[in-house]
Amino acid sequence: MTRFSAEQIRSVAVLGAGTMGHGIAQVAAQLGCTVALYDVDLAAAERGVGKIRATLDKGVALGKVTADDRDATMARLRAGAVLAAACEGADLVVEAAPERLELKATLFAEVDRAAPRALLASNTSSLSIASIAAAVADPSRLVGMHFFNPVHLMKLVEVVRHERADADAVAAAVGFSERLGKTPIVVSDSPGFASSRLGLVLGLEAMRMVESGVASAADIDTAMKLGYGHPMGPLELTDVVGLDIRLGIADYLAGAIGPSFAPPQILRDKVAAGHLGKKSGLGFYRWGADGKRQ
Ligand code: NAD
Repeated sequence: MTRFSAEQIRSVAVLGAGTMGHGIAQVAAQLGCTVALYDVDLAAAERGVGKIRATLDKGVALGKVTADDRDATMARLRAGAVLAAACEGADLVVEAAPERLELKATLFAEVDRAAPRALLASNTSSLSIASIAAAVADPSRLVGMHFFNPVHLMKLVEVVRHERADADAVAAAVGFSERLGKTPIVVSDSPGFASSRLGLVLGLEAMRMVESGVASAADIDTAMKLGYGHPMGPLELTDVVGLDIRLGIADYLAGAIGPSFAPPQILRDKVAAGHLGKKSGLGFYRWGADGKRQ
């Protein structure tokens, strides 16, 4: 008898309804799970559900989703700002709150009581899963499930295994990712895992190149797209991810790995000015309210 099984996951709570949380909630609801989308800010949770509706409407218009599937998906979703209610009966709790260890630890300490038997997962891009797991009485039930943005389109999930993780918890996270139509990889709990560590190197160097006038953001991105076959340049990707998110990861990796990850001044300045990328309308590029680059 396994403690966790991917097939038995029917009810999911997603904590944090921002860029990632609403996407994770969408794919879980599309799979057929009932999903509670929780945020400290009720308006943010409701906005998250609104964004899911808009994405599904677009899917219907493009002929990729049927109107019936959209309606059934929406009927499985609920937004809320009461953590215990969101976690009640959940088989899986996925946390997608801001990238701060103490915030995630405080959140999971509460989840520990609200969902005593659920598989727990953090969508952190870089933080130590073992440190997050230390917040719950039984750390073996918490793993990393690192989704990519936009969640409904991106195929990769990094499942992060820390030393005390239960093998069944890792296997269930892998299996559930597969049920979502994703390709999971299993990575050890090391700073930045596989994807953030490597991807950030490129992003930070591109910023240093803009800073020192090597080329414009658009030309640096074109170099990587046409010269290396990347689907998106490192600076546009930074805008899509969020400059604040990337700054947080860079600060953390600079401490955990070394000064090659130290955030360039241009990144600090843009974040301080509130230029966070796509979500704020301005970053290395200008973005319209329709979510398109201008
Ligand atoms: P975001 O800023 O878009 O959304 C975070 C949400 O969390 C906000 O709605 C905020 O109101 C809410 N929140 C704040 N405190 C909370 C709390 N205590 N409990 C619950 N919700 C709370 O952030 P995001 O980009 O969705 O990132 C979330 C996590 O996912 C981070 O750990 C980040 O590193 C990771 N991640 C981000 C990306 C990306 O491309 N943005 C990709 C992979 C992983």
